[in-house]
Amino acid sequence: MILFKKALDLQLHLLHLKQEGCKIGFAPTMGALHAGHISLIEQSKHLCDITVCSIFINPTQFNDSKDFEKYPVTIANDVFLLENAGCDILFLPSVSEIYPNGTTTSTHYNLGEIEFVLEGKFRPGHFQGVCQVVHKLLELVVPDYLIIGQKDYQQCLVIKRLVELVMPSVEVVTSPTYREHSGLAMSSRNVRLNELEKKEAAAIAEMLDYIRKNYTTSGFKELAKYATDFLLNAGFKKVDYVSIADSESLKEVNTPQKGQKLIVLIAAFMSDVRLIDNMILNG
Ligand code: AMP
Repeated sequence: MILFKKALDLQLHLLHLKQEGCKIGFAPTMGALHAGHISLIEQSKHLCDITVCSIFINPTQFNDSKDFEKYPVTIANDVFLLENAGCDILFLPSVSEIYPNGTTTSTHYNLGEIEFVLEGKFRPGHFQGVCQVVHKLLELVVPDYLIIGQKDYQQCLVIKRLVELVMPSVEVVTSPTYREHSGLAMSSRNVRLNELEKKEAAAIAEMLDYIRKNYTTSGFKELAKYATDFLLNAGFKKVDYVSIADSESLKEVNTPQKGQKLIVLIAAFMSDVRLIDNMILNG
């Protein structure tokens, strides 16, 4: 694996590979890698000749400075995992390399209403920050495929919209959520949980599955209330939302239309660690 810290070096190297006809797959991450991230690398290797992974903790997508400061950093282990997985290129830029003119931007991405619901409501500005960095990284890598995880479902919708706006030649591939045996979705933030909290946090996946099994026979409001109470009793400190929603607009649904594709999404705090997860209900 070749490691680049400078954008120009990365661009020159990729230009050379593209001239040779290589298809490029790209998986952007914030590091503290786990098997979920590695599944994106594997997906990319399956589709492409060359796989690029970036590790960059993007300051502009954190609306909570404590969350940013506490974000885990495990570069040596990340490099080990990527090399083992056969990743070809790691891009590890500094903040000034990505934002040479500072992080303030006048670019506004028109993402529509999905920007403001669920994660957008609880983390104002988050998705503009995500778009700012993904746009920058796309311009540097210009991949054929962009590989992202369904674990961050709303982010997938946002990134698909961004790609339509700024680089429609890129094919966005969504990779399934990789889970612990307990069902807990793998997340870099899980390292901030102790063993008991990790066990308790599996209640999110349990409730997603419960809703998937019961949404055809129970009221959606009642299911959401049941899941919220269950999570609070299971040890969660706060539940931001349990939402059964249209899988395209993410608008909450109470009575589904015939053939409407539905998803259930949950965000909740286990101690001061905010966890998100989702499950497609049909289709
Ligand atoms: P992050 O480092 O958390 O920004 O995530 C980088 C990429 O990995 C995003 O596309 C995530 O959706 C994806 N990802 C994170 N966790 C998982 C998981 N458990 N399974 C699959 N993909 C994941």
